[in-house]
Amino acid sequence: MNPDSVADSMKNGVSDVMLQQILIYNQRHDPLTGLLTFPAFKDALTGMLADVRPDEEQAVVWIDLLNVRREFSLWGWDAAESLIRGVGLSLESGLARNTLIGRFGGRCFAFAVRAAKTDLAARKHIQDVVDTISRLGAHELDTTPLLSAGVAFYPSDASGAEELIRFASMAAGCARHTHGAMVLPFQHGMNNVLVRHHKLEVEIGKALAQDQFTMFYQPNVDLITGKVLGAEALMRWNHPEWGPVAPSEFIPVAERSNLIHGLFDFSLRSALKRARAWNRAGIAPGIIAVNVSPANLRRDDFPRRVRSLMEELPIAPMQLELEITESLLLDDEQLFAARMRQLKTIGVRLAIDDFGTRYTGFNLLKRLPLDAMKIDRCFIRGIHRSEDMRVLCRTIVAMARQMKLRTVAEGIEEMEELEVLQEIGCDDGQGYLFQRPLPMGDFEDFLRAWPKRSVSFGFEIAQAS
Ligand code: C2E
Ligand code: MG
Ligand code: MG
Repeated sequence: MNPDSVADSMKNGVSDVMLQQILIYNQRHDPLTGLLTFPAFKDALTGMLADVRPDEEQAVVWIDLLNVRREFSLWGWDAAESLIRGVGLSLESGLARNTLIGRFGGRCFAFAVRAAKTDLAARKHIQDVVDTISRLGAHELDTTPLLSAGVAFYPSDASGAEELIRFASMAAGCARHTHGAMVLPFQHGMNNVLVRHHKLEVEIGKALAQDQFTMFYQPNVDLITGKVLGAEALMRWNHPEWGPVAPSEFIPVAERSNLIHGLFDFSLRSALKRARAWNRAGIAPGIIAVNVSPANLRRDDFPRRVRSLMEELPIAPMQLELEITESLLLDDEQLFAARMRQLKTIGVRLAIDDFGTRYTGFNLLKRLPLDAMKIDRCFIRGIHRSEDMRVLCRTIVAMARQMKLRTVAEGIEEMEELEVLQEIGCDDGQGYLFQRPLPMGDFEDFLRAWPKRSVSFGFEIAQAS
């Protein structure tokens, strides 16, 4: 044989094998991190599941990096890639050698560890690994979690490799909505929750475009005189097929997408239009209160948005009150205090909503430009039956008075509750006892009928005035 052709065939032979190996390697490994791709991870996991003894469990942890896109938009492609590489390295160094680790798609990672659902030490280790990653790429001003993570177990949750990975990813999807960077264990039913969330998101978008939302109004009554001092505007959604959907269901879904800004525009615009019409008709109930979501307030342009809607549909700024839920204040004190001061320059009133559900310190409250404090329903319910609750409420009212804040009791349902609140010195009250939230026409009827009705609550003075 010609030596040249031997050399040629050897060269070709070697390069074919090598090429094949390179191809296989590339199919099985992510080029950026060297971690396994989905098919390779799944194959290897299938092998591992076959070895799980009856007294053991296999966990798969799924991590969704939520900040890759932000990293890219702020700092460019290199920064996004370096974040991804950093996560890969951190996983490799935080986990035992030969742990199965994969990267699937742009921002998802997974790893597999032998751990039982009930093994708390293993669960803590998993959380520690995830915590280390959540610190990568974090900036000082971050208020939202940078990743979400879920875990599922074989055989207690899933019966095969693909299902195990899918359930871990489903848990991570749910964690994104509710649990920050906590590794959320999979639960059956999560699938339905995610499907429902997705459907709601799509439908809220349509509902905004198709005018399916309306505002209802609930009166706010002066507990000494019985006068209606204002109305809280509450959003209602009547879905053409599902019927009424509660704000407690759709507001949190809207908060996780940009839809919440559309909802705020709608509620403020409707409330301003209503206030103007009532002002013109001479039946204005006083202050109109509109609820603000944390996600609204977080946006830089929120105060500008309020200002421009007020210019479009002007009312006296002091006639508008924005209700900001207490839970929000603790998330990022400085940001929200700054936003509230910006809003205050417009001249609108600010109220802290659901007060008592978190533990906002007196010192923080003092620094905020607030006008009113709405005491959460959980302190009002059954207050006449609980001495402790009465003491607590009395303290809240005294504290608010010191800060020159008007106190509003939320959710008064019984006459006895009203009597205790009057005795305590709470300024105003809202609740089913006086009136459930009503559509605008019915609310006007309510306003007309109230002076007579208020007598049945012992408000003689309101009648006379
Ligand atoms: P919230 O702002 O604290 O509103 C008071 C809630 O308590 C309303 O529920 C109201 O209907 C209800 N309520 C009033 N009196 C009573 C009572 O005596 N007993 C009981 N059990 N409940 C009473 P709703 O309308 O279902 O709204 C729930 C929450 O959804 C609101 O709590 C608010 O946080 C949010 N929400 C409602 N409308 C809007 C909106 O337009 N924008 C935003 N961002 N959030 C809204
Ligand atoms: Mg409210
Ligand atoms: Mg409230």
